[in-house]
Amino acid sequence: MQRLQTGREKIMKLSAGEGHETGKGRQSAVRSRFKASDDSIQGNKQILKVTYAVVIIFLCMVGYLVNFMVSDSEEIINNPYNKRRDILAEKVVRGNIYSADGKVLAKTITGDDGEDKRVYPYDNTFCHVIGRITNSMTGVEREQCYPLLTSHSNPLKKLANTFKGDKSQGDNVYTTLDANLQQIAYKALGNYKGAVVALEPDTGKILAMVSKPDYNPNTVDNDWDRLVEDEEDNSALLNRATQGLYPPGSTFKVMTAIEYILENPSSYNSYSYKCKGSDSFEGNVINCYGKEKHGELNLSKSLAKSCNASFAEIGMELNVNSFKKLCEKFMFNKQLPVKFEYKKSRFELDKKSDAGELVQTVIGQGKTMITPMQNAMIAATIANGGEMMIPYVVDHTENYAGQTVKSYDPVSNGKIIEEDVAAVIEKFMKEVINDGTGASLSTLSYKVAGKTGSAEFDSEGTSHAWFIGYAPAKNPKIAVSIVVEGAGTGSQYAVPIAKEMFRQYLGE
Ligand SMILES: [Zn+2]
Repeated sequence: MQRLQTGREKIMKLSAGEGHETGKGRQSAVRSRFKASDDSIQGNKQILKVTYAVVIIFLCMVGYLVNFMVSDSEEIINNPYNKRRDILAEKVVRGNIYSADGKVLAKTITGDDGEDKRVYPYDNTFCHVIGRITNSMTGVEREQCYPLLTSHSNPLKKLANTFKGDKSQGDNVYTTLDANLQQIAYKALGNYKGAVVALEPDTGKILAMVSKPDYNPNTVDNDWDRLVEDEEDNSALLNRATQGLYPPGSTFKVMTAIEYILENPSSYNSYSYKCKGSDSFEGNVINCYGKEKHGELNLSKSLAKSCNASFAEIGMELNVNSFKKLCEKFMFNKQLPVKFEYKKSRFELDKKSDAGELVQTVIGQGKTMITPMQNAMIAATIANGGEMMIPYVVDHTENYAGQTVKSYDPVSNGKIIEEDVAAVIEKFMKEVINDGTGASLSTLSYKVAGKTGSAEFDSEGTSHAWFIGYAPAKNPKIAVSIVVEGAGTGSQYAVPIAKEMFRQYLGE
């Protein structure tokens, strides 16, 4: 404002000088005007310059204000440390958060003392994905803070509320979450640490997202000291689904197989390897699980049996640079274009890596680290014919009367692999279920495509159990990614969770 006022003052002063005609006759005034015509032109130019400057400053300020009101204010209000948010909360009752099927996941009740209290009817079940509003805002509560504290109710009613000193009702947020599926996933993970993610492959909608250990958002204030103290061992506040980094184990063989097909489009079908339960690659010994001898294998059987030695053999033939490029197309080492908190998955193999690191990496060990969300995105991309959809959790917002205020549409992250390559991998992943490590899923009435994993994470051979997959293979409706920390094999601990989720979502 300071600069604007200065500009105005200048104009006023200049105008006063120009229009000074008092005290002399009209003639002399005209004459002097002619005499001074050169000066006047100079003066006019100056006025124009100043006018332009003022107009530009004014437009900049209008632009800034509009930008502030439209976008920046949303950012600022979503910032958990913002005072203006508190002022909004004085005028608006924070809206509700719903599942896709209309179950209340978060609501505000006003107590007898007039104080608003945020209530989460499902206690711990949705704690990471829905988040909380105290002790640093997280989850959907954070992402949608602005709409939740904005009322699109009838303006007259809002005005009346203001006069009466009543609060207006904030907009409601409808998520993409399936409340039943979330509860099944939560229950199925039991007392294990780990995470479960379910996506709709052709839209990227997040259907379920569970992380354990968890906490109760209803009592997070009282529990806070204990939760923070426990952070080292349990980290219940961390959303493992999007922020937990794990070695991918054998689920990563899907990536290795895709790269092998891309490098050998006409000959991958004639790949063969004889597994003796163990093999050595430039002095690096790779064992199969339990040193099982898998015998004669093609590429499909190598994946179905999850043969480490065969995949190490494949890895030795791969072009490391193009493998890295493929992984980066699948969003390893990349910022995900999502609105929720997450960590980047890591793929560190490059041409400087030695054979030891190479054979470990292609079987999902080595330095590669992945979030359960990222692994779900890989499964969903294959399910969706090679096109990756960006995961999202908010479907739309509504005002108190049920009218839609804002809708969120699916966004594509592009075609990552060709449809025919996705189809070949799908065939292999179906073989994992037909005659491989995911066989217990073959009793369902529809075909499932998937890959198990047992990711070793310490020298004693303790492993995280993994499963990624989707169903029905023919027309995929759901893709899942499951990790159970320190449990054992994927077949034994992750596959049963996938089975319960498929049954809940698709039937027997
Ligand atoms: Zn083997």
